[in-house]
Parts: sequence; structure tokens; C-alpha cells
Amino acid sequence: MRRVSIFGATGSIGQNTIDLIARAPDDYDVVALTGATNVTQLAKDAKRLQADLAVTSEEDLLPELRALLAGSGVEAAAGDAAIKEAAGRPADWVMSAIVGAAGLVPGLEALGQGATLALANKESMVCAGQLMFDAERDGGGKILPVDSEHSAVFQALIGEDLSAVERVIITASGGAFRDWSLEEMARATPEQAATHPNWDMGQRITIDSASLFNKAMELIETREFFRIDPAKIEAVVHPESMIHALVGFNDGALMAHVGPPDMRHAIGFALHHPHRKALPVERLDLVKLGQFTFRAADETRYPALRLAREVMQTGGLSGAVFNAAKETALDAFLSRQIGFLQMAEVVEATLLEISRRGGCIDAAFSLDNVLAADHLARHVARETAARIS
Ligand code: NAD
Ligand code: MG
Repeated sequence: MRRVSIFGATGSIGQNTIDLIARAPDDYDVVALTGATNVTQLAKDAKRLQADLAVTSEEDLLPELRALLAGSGVEAAAGDAAIKEAAGRPADWVMSAIVGAAGLVPGLEALGQGATLALANKESMVCAGQLMFDAERDGGGKILPVDSEHSAVFQALIGEDLSAVERVIITASGGAFRDWSLEEMARATPEQAATHPNWDMGQRITIDSASLFNKAMELIETREFFRIDPAKIEAVVHPESMIHALVGFNDGALMAHVGPPDMRHAIGFALHHPHRKALPVERLDLVKLGQFTFRAADETRYPALRLAREVMQTGGLSGAVFNAAKETALDAFLSRQIGFLQMAEVVEATLLEISRRGGCIDAAFSLDNVLAADHLARHVARETAARIS
């Protein structure tokens, strides 16, 4: 039996992970499940999977969670400290699927106790890739990518020599507004942005897909995960979302990873690694699909991509600033304080202001400094959003 924990169990990735685990209950011993506001779902899954522990990040929901779990034998806990404590409990495999920078500390903690960390939480790689790999080395654990593009790159690199890699191409669906004009995008509502043409995901990443902030995050994630020169990393729009990434080698070969837009592939790959096991995902009928199409990912239309390039160039703690500014800009868009296209303005202005102030981005890589950069960037981004709204 493998001991597994799922952080962000009630979300889209968490539920897909539970789907796979629940198909083979005898193979897994569930240690901890965590969630936030949806304690009903959390309690239901914790009971069904006979988890040792269920944790909500919301302290005021602890009495409700306790009541839902009464008599089940599942321990209940609440708050960020309880989530951190849960991540420190011995487990062989841990899914990191909390959304946002809140996923960083539990991920580091899980690596610290030597677990294999299946990383959906791209924010931790963008904010603190170096700390994640330090924790992997020190704890003896292993980080495996779950973001579909990075799982695809990882799979294309198996058995290959990194020095033979000429380029890495990650694909973007283009999101909800890929055929909209800039004028239409300027007036887009959160509801319109939260509808994805191909993938069924959480609200925040779906909106980030429409702005291409998700792809921007993934460019940085590629750089951090595979330590590849940013000049070799590209994004291309591929509306069908069937090819997730391609790796180009110095002999001209391009190895593509093709599969249906179903996160259970990447989750299952990380769950069974280094083996491959049958997964309940659709088998593609290429003749039926007919064709795959591609378009340039225009950096004028999608300034998020240009900003990601700047962040990769700057390095240091600029990833933490970028992510925090992006999360804050998204909150401002969700509350209708700013428009869809203004999210990039907020992020750009925040990066500029923080580098103008100095001292933050080139601070040494430590958890305290990453959290301080995150905190400062949120503050500056909130001020910027209020100013331009
Ligand atoms: P989601 O919004 O559906 O779920 C987020 C989960 O995090 C929920 O369990 C929620 O309760 C929990 N959570 C939210 N705020 C929290 C906080 N402050 N503290 C603790 N827990 C909190 O999101 P998702 O789509 O499942 O995405 C999760 C992560 O995986 C994100 O980093 C996202 O970028 C990444 N990812 C998602 C997909 C996808 O297909 N959904 C694909 C690739 C990567
Ligand atoms: Mg992705």
C-alpha cells in the first residue's frame, strides 16, 4: 500500500486525482486530504477514502468539518499551520494541487519529509523553483510535473541528453477569447473568461488561460523545472489542445506528446512513475480528428508572454513578484475593479515599481524572502489596481 496525501483535494486536479485513487482503493493508504471552503466535499471524500486526516484552510469552518466527520474516525483540523503539519506527515506520494502561492509551503514540507511530490501547483515552481529543488535534494524526495505541458516535456525527455535539446515548445489553447478582438477582450466579464473551450479546470486557471497568464506562468515553470535556457522555450497557440508540448533536438527531430485534454493522464503518469499503467482516458482517433492547427502566440495581443520573458531574464525573486501581482490582478478582475486587459497592466506596473524600489528581486533565495516578495508585490499590485480602475 502506498501512503498518499492530496493537497487541494476538493478542486479540479484534486477530484481527478481522487478519481484515479478511488479506482484502486486497495493500492492506497490515504493519509491527508485538504481543501478550503467546500468542507462537505472534503468530508465526503475523506470518509470514502478512509483518510487519517482532513484539513480545511478556513479556521471558522472547523466546527462544520468536525460535525461532518463525527464518528468516522477521520481526524479534522483547520488553518494554514494544520495544512503544513499535514504535509509533514509521512507519505510516499503527495499531490500538490492547492491553487496559488498558498501551495508553496505544503509542497516544501512534503519534499522535506522525502515524499514524491506530484506538482500541479505551478505557482511554487514560478515563485521558488530553486527552493523546491533544494528541498527535493535535502529531503531525498522527488518532484514530478503534473501540468500537462510539463508532463509532456518530461516524457519526451526520458532517456534523452538535455544538451541535445534545441527547443521546447509548449502549446496554448488560446482560451475563451482566442477569436475575439482586443476591443471585445477589453470589455470581457469574469463569467465569459471562465469558460474554457477544451479543458475543465478551476476558475482561476481558466481565466489565466484566456489572458495567457497561464502560459506565461508555464514558460517560467519550464525554465525552472528543466533548467533550460529561456531562449530555447517557445509557446504556440494550438486550439485543439491535443498536442501538449514538443521537444526539438539538435538533429531536427521534434518529439510531440499527443493526448486528449484530460488531466488524469498527467496525474496518472506522476502517480505510477516510473512505470506506465492503464489509465481511463480517451484513446484518440486521429482520422476522426483530421487535423491539428497552430497559430503564433502574439506577444502584442498577449503581453503576459512578454512579461514572462522579462521575468526569465531577470531571474532572482522576480517570479514570486510576477505570480503575486498576477494573483492580485486576477482578484481585481474578478471583483470587477479592473478590466480583462488591465490585468497585464497591473502586473507590468508592479514588476517595474518593485525593481525601481530595489532590494526585493535580488534578495537571497530563502523562504522568508520569497514570502516577503510575495507580500510586497500584492500590496503594490493592489495599489496599482486601485489607481488605474
Ligand atoms: P481549483 O480552484 O479547482 O482547486 C483549488 C484547490 O485549492 C481546492 O481544493 C481549494 O479548496 C484549495 N485552496 C484554494 N485556496 C486555498 C488556500 N488559500 N489554502 C489552501 N487550499 C486552498 O484549482 P485547480 O484547477 O484544481 O488547480 C490547482 C492547481 O493546479 C493550480 O496551481 C493550477 O494552476 C494547477 N493546474 C490545474 C490544471 C487543471 O486542469 N485544473 C492543470 C494544470 C495545472
Ligand atoms: Mg498547463
